[in-house]
Amino acid sequence: MPELPEVETVREALEPAIASQTIAYVRLTRGDLRWPLPEDLDKRLVGRRCSAPKRRGKYILIDLSQKETLLIHLGMSGAIRLYDHKPNFQKHDHFSVEFTSGQWMVFSDPRRFGHLDLFASAATPKHPLLFCLGVEPLSDAFTVPVLTSLMKGRKTLIKSALLDQRLVAGLGNIYVNEALFRAGISPRRKAGSIPGKRALRLTNAIKAVLREAIKAGGTSLRDHIQPGGEIGYFAQNLRVYGQAGQPCVDCGQEIKQIIQSGRSSFYCPSCQR
Ligand SMILES: [Zn+2]
Repeated sequence: MPELPEVETVREALEPAIASQTIAYVRLTRGDLRWPLPEDLDKRLVGRRCSAPKRRGKYILIDLSQKETLLIHLGMSGAIRLYDHKPNFQKHDHFSVEFTSGQWMVFSDPRRFGHLDLFASAATPKHPLLFCLGVEPLSDAFTVPVLTSLMKGRKTLIKSALLDQRLVAGLGNIYVNEALFRAGISPRRKAGSIPGKRALRLTNAIKAVLREAIKAGGTSLRDHIQPGGEIGYFAQNLRVYGQAGQPCVDCGQEIKQIIQSGRSSFYCPSCQR
């Protein structure tokens, strides 16, 4: 599932390709993906000029002319491809945009867990998918005191708290596992037990893991393809995620795998306390 770094990688790739472009035609193959799509979405988009795409959590937001915003959510398996000519459409290319320049943006979503929405730009902060999102971990607003206060008094596991999008936006299972390893914090620890040095290490680890992943072009564990057809390679740099039974890169002890709240956790019992 695309996490924050994958979505940010897509956003960065889209920016030079679609900013200032005007939509000439929209090819929409269905009226729904995960949820019903806005009525007449294809017709409403024609003639609109795109601004530089933004990101909030795992959502891509494109402000359009006439003061409306297009939201794109990649879901579980969504991918965006860019073309400088009309593409040969594939089975799962559900939403394709032709720009007046002759370039195309194609959103494919085989499992249809993605979403598209179009709404007044002024209503963005109140959008049902956006208003409850927590702090952006790469923003200046994500600091040690902020993380400490978010976790204070929480009896849930630190792992579960970090996955809660209402607290920190955009973190998923892969990068939470990696950040906890780098911070030397056990995924079995309670969220409320990390003030002080642990909170400092965790704040820094979350930012570092996300920045490295964005730089590497996003992880591609499944079928997530980057614009331009490149596939991210950060998966090779994962230190604990998916490494059960392998030696810890720091101490050599075996990486353990446990299930917490239905999700796999990977950790080094020696390095993570
Ligand atoms: Zn270790």
